[in-house]
Amino acid sequence: MTPVSKKKSSTQKKVQVISIAIPVYNEVENIPLLYDRLKLVLEKLPFAFEIVFVDDGSDDGTYAVIQKLREQDRRIKAISFSRNFGHQAALTAGLQYATGDAVITMDGDLQHPPSLIPTLIEKWQEGNQVVFTVRESTADESFFKKLTSRLFYRIMAASSKTPVQPFGADFRLLDRKVVASLKTLEEHDRFLRGLIGWLGFTAIGVPYTADARAAGTSKYSTRKMIKFALDGILSFSATPLHLVTFLGLFVSVLSFAYGAYSLYAFFFTDRTIPGWTSLLVTVLFLGGVQLISIGFLGEYLLRVYNETKRRPLYIIKDSLNIDTPR
Ligand code: UDP
Ligand code: MG
Repeated sequence: MTPVSKKKSSTQKKVQVISIAIPVYNEVENIPLLYDRLKLVLEKLPFAFEIVFVDDGSDDGTYAVIQKLREQDRRIKAISFSRNFGHQAALTAGLQYATGDAVITMDGDLQHPPSLIPTLIEKWQEGNQVVFTVRESTADESFFKKLTSRLFYRIMAASSKTPVQPFGADFRLLDRKVVASLKTLEEHDRFLRGLIGWLGFTAIGVPYTADARAAGTSKYSTRKMIKFALDGILSFSATPLHLVTFLGLFVSVLSFAYGAYSLYAFFFTDRTIPGWTSLLVTVLFLGGVQLISIGFLGEYLLRVYNETKRRPLYIIKDSLNIDTPR
């Protein structure tokens, strides 16, 4: 027993730093609370740590609070965006500038309990390169949000081969190797849950119960949620396009049959009184199908358009304690 464990510890690489990357958008009240809770947990660990805040264009003084904390604590790093670029862009920046051997991403509203961090690290040290978390329930989640998120993960699972952990949050630990690989993926409309699934690596899930938001309201508007869901589906699946093609085929077959019937009726029967209803139904149905199909094409085209512009994912206005601002 002893020699085995000795061998294991000698091959284990030495952990220098654990990074915590936190995207925040108008979380002025939550930051001091989160910092205190994090400090309690992190200072008990046998590693050095850094906390990287990414201020996603807040206008409520969030960055000033971070600056103040930074004056007392050199382990805090921060990036401030020139405007709101969105949660996924802020997460990407956090991963970009975190320097730890493992990087833990979490939300800034205390919905992701810092008390889970030691478990994440433990699972990582057991050899898992991705330790994701599975939300078992959320204290303050609305019925609408529950329903739509369930529906979303169903569609994701049915339409894409890339594994996307259902009810996974952006609360996870990534090994340095995974972070380095993630940096090579430069796509614009990012859906990190899918990108990490796409990368592969050894992954394990840890269940947790999300707490209610400590202060403030959700920063994910319905519009942002819809964009997020569309990015998830459209960047990892071409199923909507296939569906459109099959629908087109199906409608064509029906139209052919109906056309044959109408010719038959014209030549061989006297039942050719103009059918207003059937005409209207056909026209409306085909019109609807065509508009939906064009819409889908447009959504994919829009993403192609966004990629070809090759704009950066975010613009940095200011940073604290960041060695290599790009
Ligand atoms: N967030 C962000 N940019 C945004 C929206 C949200 O950086 O445009 C941050 C937010 O401050 C929080 C995390 O992303 O730390 C998750 O957002 P939120 O808690 O509002 O989402 P919910 O938990 O309601 O889904
Ligand atoms: Mg939240």
